[in-house]
Amino acid sequence: MYRWPKIYLDQLAACFGAGFVASRLVKWKWNLSTCFSGVGCAESAALSLQTAARRFLKKHRKMSAMDHVRITSACEIDKACQEVLGATYGHCCFEDIVTMDMGKKVCYCTTHKKNCVLEPDLEDTNRPVCVDYSLMGKREKEKGKSQVCHQAFYDNMKNSQNSVVVVENVCEYDGERIVQQALGNIWKLEVVRIDPRIFGFASARARMYLVAYRSDKLRWAGPWTLQSFVEMLRSRVEMSVWDYFWMKLPKSQLSQSNEQNLADYNKSSRTYMVADLNQYAANGRGRGETKDDCLPTLTTGSGRLYSQEKRRFLHGTELLTSHVLPCTDEHSKICGAPKLELQSIANTNLVRMSGNAMSIPCVGCILLACALSFQPRTQPCRN
Ligand SMILES: [Zn+2]
Repeated sequence: MYRWPKIYLDQLAACFGAGFVASRLVKWKWNLSTCFSGVGCAESAALSLQTAARRFLKKHRKMSAMDHVRITSACEIDKACQEVLGATYGHCCFEDIVTMDMGKKVCYCTTHKKNCVLEPDLEDTNRPVCVDYSLMGKREKEKGKSQVCHQAFYDNMKNSQNSVVVVENVCEYDGERIVQQALGNIWKLEVVRIDPRIFGFASARARMYLVAYRSDKLRWAGPWTLQSFVEMLRSRVEMSVWDYFWMKLPKSQLSQSNEQNLADYNKSSRTYMVADLNQYAANGRGRGETKDDCLPTLTTGSGRLYSQEKRRFLHGTELLTSHVLPCTDEHSKICGAPKLELQSIANTNLVRMSGNAMSIPCVGCILLACALSFQPRTQPCRN
């Protein structure tokens, strides 16, 4: 499952020819900064794509390896995420989007424990607080507390040198209207909804992805829309939930209430191979694998997904790998992004991180569409 970037490029080469794909790839160059990208989901996707692009260009004898991606900074309020971001990527990490002002050019950095430079970036990935829009949340939408944070982010983007902004949120987020209104009409939008299952992964996580770009600086030069680009990379599910139980772990101790809940699960009309023991089957709230045997959409409360066959809970690290985040040397070797530094992180924090994470092949698909689709509006002078 960590081979997704290579599979994407090979599929595109089959459709459009390797020469065409290579000619787009050699022009690709980004400064990437992220905002609420959690444990580095956008970073991991971008670096995996870079590795796959290098291998692709080498194989097709175009140009030698080049640096497509430079990761500059992340803004993330979750302390455990900051710890992982700092240890894994070493880039600057800023914690407060509300007080962060791109115009100031300098802000307190939690990675380097001093004021660091906020560099203007070409590409940004924002994952705003989704709770106010989520079906599971209070659904206060723009009246919710996260709105201040969203507005600060969009104001920052509007006043920055950025020419592309990528936004991920729950499907209920009215992104097209909100982002267009916040950024203004010079920005054009491409929007798509994606679930990792359409790429063959056995985990559910339908999300809205939005690409906003400055129409005076860039044009979308397809020859695809964002929607049709995603469709081209569609693939059959060949995995199941069991692929996520990959760690060798002892049986879990169940509390008395867990045992009771499990008994209620087994009495209910729908039985699960993997039951969520944080939800109560007795009051009809039972939850588990989806009808097509995939992991349900993870939330920050998904710490007790229990298999009666394996007689244990899914571990936090396994939950992170369900988003295809590299958690072992082997994963890292295949996908070409660094292994997440998780040693000092407690399981409850790993669970929370995975509930707030993005699916890497989904973000990766969007980032690859950006890398291949944009052309500058004005050609630079050649002499
Ligand atoms: Zn720094």
